This record gives sequence, C-alpha cells and structure tokens, in this order.
Amino acid sequence: MRYISTRGHAPSLSLEGALLAGLASDGGLYVPENLPRFTHKEIASWVGLPYNELAFRVMRQFVTGSIPDADFKKIIEETYGVFSHKAVAPLCQLNSNEWVLELFHGPTLAFKDFSLQLLGRLLGYVLERCAKLVVILGATSGDTGSAAIEGCKHCENVDIFILHPHQRVSEIQRRQMTTVFSKKIHNIAIKGNFDDCQEMVKSSFADQSFLSGKRLIAVNSINWVRIMAQIVYYFYASLQLGGPARSVSFSVPTGNFGNIFAGYLARNMGLPINQLIVATNRNDILHRFISSNRYIKDTMHVTLSPSMDIMVASNFERLLFDIYSRNSVVLAKLVISLKQGGGFSIEQGRWIEIRKLFDSLAVDDIQTCKTIAEVYAQTGKLLDPHTAIGVKAARDCRRSLNTPMVILGTAHPIKFPEAVEKAGFNKALELPEHLADLFEREEHYTVLPNNLQVMQTFISQNFNSSQPL
Ligand SMILES: *Cc1c(COP(=O)(O)O)cnc(C)c1O
Repeated sequence: MRYISTRGHAPSLSLEGALLAGLASDGGLYVPENLPRFTHKEIASWVGLPYNELAFRVMRQFVTGSIPDADFKKIIEETYGVFSHKAVAPLCQLNSNEWVLELFHGPTLAFKDFSLQLLGRLLGYVLERCAKLVVILGATSGDTGSAAIEGCKHCENVDIFILHPHQRVSEIQRRQMTTVFSKKIHNIAIKGNFDDCQEMVKSSFADQSFLSGKRLIAVNSINWVRIMAQIVYYFYASLQLGGPARSVSFSVPTGNFGNIFAGYLARNMGLPINQLIVATNRNDILHRFISSNRYIKDTMHVTLSPSMDIMVASNFERLLFDIYSRNSVVLAKLVISLKQGGGFSIEQGRWIEIRKLFDSLAVDDIQTCKTIAEVYAQTGKLLDPHTAIGVKAARDCRRSLNTPMVILGTAHPIKFPEAVEKAGFNKALELPEHLADLFEREEHYTVLPNNLQVMQTFISQNFNSSQPL
C-alpha cells in the first residue's frame, strides 16, 4: 500500500514511510492511495471474531508490502493483549438501542491507547529493521502524552520527550506520564500553557538541526497509523449489533477529527453506517461547519472536556481532500484561506454531500454535567465528560430509533474528577488495579522555562545516551 499527501507535492510513501514522516513534507497529511473495500459477504464472515483477529483482517491491506502477515498478527496480539478487558472494546447498553463502546480499558484509560499501543510496536518493529534512532517529541494537555509514553516505552531505538504545561494538567494525568521510569522517557513541564508547548514542538519539527542528525517523529493524530488502528472498532461494534446486514450509527466525542474520520473510512471500506455524529464541546468549529458550512477559527475555550479543546481540527483536511475528489489544488487554497482569512465555506453541493452522513452538536459544560448526572440516575453508569458529550449529541441528533446508536466511550471517568464532581457525584472513584498505587509512585520530570532554546538544549543533552548503532 502506498500513501499520498493531501497537498499533492510530497512523494508517495510506504507504510513505514508514512509512520516515520507523520506530516508530509508539503505540509499535508498522508492518506492511503486506494482504500481497501470489503463486500458484505466478507464482512459477515467476521461475525464473532475476537478483537485481534478482526483487527488483522481490517488492517491487513494497509500494511501490505511493508509487514509480513505473521509479524503483523503477532504485533496486533501483543498490542491488544495489554488491554484489561477480555473483549478489548466491550459494548455497554444504556438505553433501548443505545450503546457505549468502551474504549478505555487500555493502560492509560483513554481510547488513544488503541492507536498508540499499536504505533509504538510498529515503530519498534520498523526501527529495528532499519537500525535508525529517532526522537519522539510531543506536547500534551493530558491523554496523548501518557498514551504515547505507554505505547512507545518498549521501543529500543526511541527517545521520548513529552512537554506538558507545568501545573496545568490534572494530577492523575501528570502521574500517568511521570511515574513511567526509563532513561529514554523524558517528561518536561514547561512554565507556560499548552499552546506554548505546542508552539515549541512545531518550531522543533520545522528546524531539526538541534538533533544532531536524529529524526523527529510525530505521534499526534496526524500520524496515519493512529487513524488506521481506530477503524477496527467501528467494525467490531457493528458486527456485534447485527452488521453488516443492519446499519449502525455512531456518535463520536470529537476534537481533532481523528477518531470520527476513522468511522468515515470504515464506511467507505464497506461497513454500513447510517449516521456519524460529530459531538464537540464549546470549541465547536466542526459543529459550526457541519450545521452551517462555515469553518472559521475562534479563540480557545477551556472546558471540562480538555481533550477536545482545540481551535482547528487537524484531521478535517483528510475529509475535505475526499470531498473535493482528492483535488490537492483546491485543498491547498482552502488551507490558505484558513491561515490568512481565518476560515472558509465550501461549495454547497459538496457540503450537502457531507450532510448526508454527518450531523453535529456542540455541548457546553453545564449540559455535559447534566448528562453525566442523568445517565448515572438512569443506569448507574458513570460517564467521563467526553463520553457524556457523545451521549448528549446522540440523543439530540439521532435520525432513527430503529438503527442502533453507538457512542464511543473515549475515557474512563476517573481521569476527569472535576467534571464528575460538578455533576454531583462525590463518591471516591477507585483506580483500576494496574494503577492502584499511582499516587505512591515516584515521579520523574524536569521543569523548564518557556524558552525554545533551553528546551532544545535539554533534548540534545539528554538523549537516551543512545550511542548510534
Ligand atoms: C483525544 C480525545 C478525544 C478527541 O479525539 P479526536 O481524535 O481528536 O477527535 C476525545 N476524548 C478523549 C477522552 C480524548 O482523549
């Protein structure tokens, strides 16, 4: 399988290439040159398969030519073997024909484990074969950092530097990052906010000269491998609810449009999906686009669902590329209008095309807490604020009560105690077994000023000591 850039000026790459590149050299995002397509008959033959085996069948063609079947199978088994629930992604019924797909049974209790556990293992596999040393650099406001560290901590040839805003991530999120001890893992608390951290990461990718020849790898959701891993659970949920004979709908708590874009791809690969609901918080650029065809930047609002606090949705470019029949020239123009003019609208006909599948809702903090309380009263299930936004949007935007509605449960409520308390729930929540002693573990991190030079010098002096091979 080859991967091409949405902007049309970067070379096409293999899976390894796309994995290592992250962003394309022309600023675009990599997408598969040809999407695999399955017949209903083929999908129907997968009913009842365990998660691993389904994952192998769904993803196999994406890695053809790069990873032999036997190796890929083994990597997948290891990846989903670390999840604490035997079903990996269990469905929990909330209401008549309404389900939450629980994607928080991985090591860091958020859905990002699905993609980053796989990404870490693929990276280890690829780097071992090419004997390269790389540096993962990322900024996090919470979930991505810990999932990246957990996913990549076993890679031999990787140093991981994760920046988080000093004293601005929750204690549990900080501890999930800082208590993983290895000489290759470097947590840096920057005396600034999340945007400052992200700016430093961006500048470092743009000029990598401080790395003395090592290569920087991006593990945020622009990396194709992350999208690829997320396609699987749409198939998994559907097959348990009567698919492919029956169509299923999904409501997805959305920030950077990575998770829901995987659902769009699942549908294009042949899975009958009736409706995809984009559920946002007050940072609602996607909701404004889907409801009124205006994709316009706004300022960032801090909410109780911080993992969806974004100004622009980086993966949205991948959808636009398809909607414009993969015309990179038009796409590049839209990107420029966003940069220079702050936003754009698209041709009405193409927007209507998007509306055939997508609906959306923006849910504020008050409604989020109300939904947590309501669902708890109805079912005894405690939702995290992101998942609650998905439930609220599902209930408001649902087109058909006969079609099963699946809400993607993106995080465990224990990660977001503030929202849970505000929803009126004040019993202490228990950490899952593997994290039970999290608050006693020793932490390792370095506090640095909000200064690019200082941060880069720190990185260049603290490589895993990794001598070139
Ligand atoms: C990252 C994250 C999201 C947003 O996912 P996108 O792929 O950026 O749309 C939603 N919920 C939780 C808990 C997350 O960690």
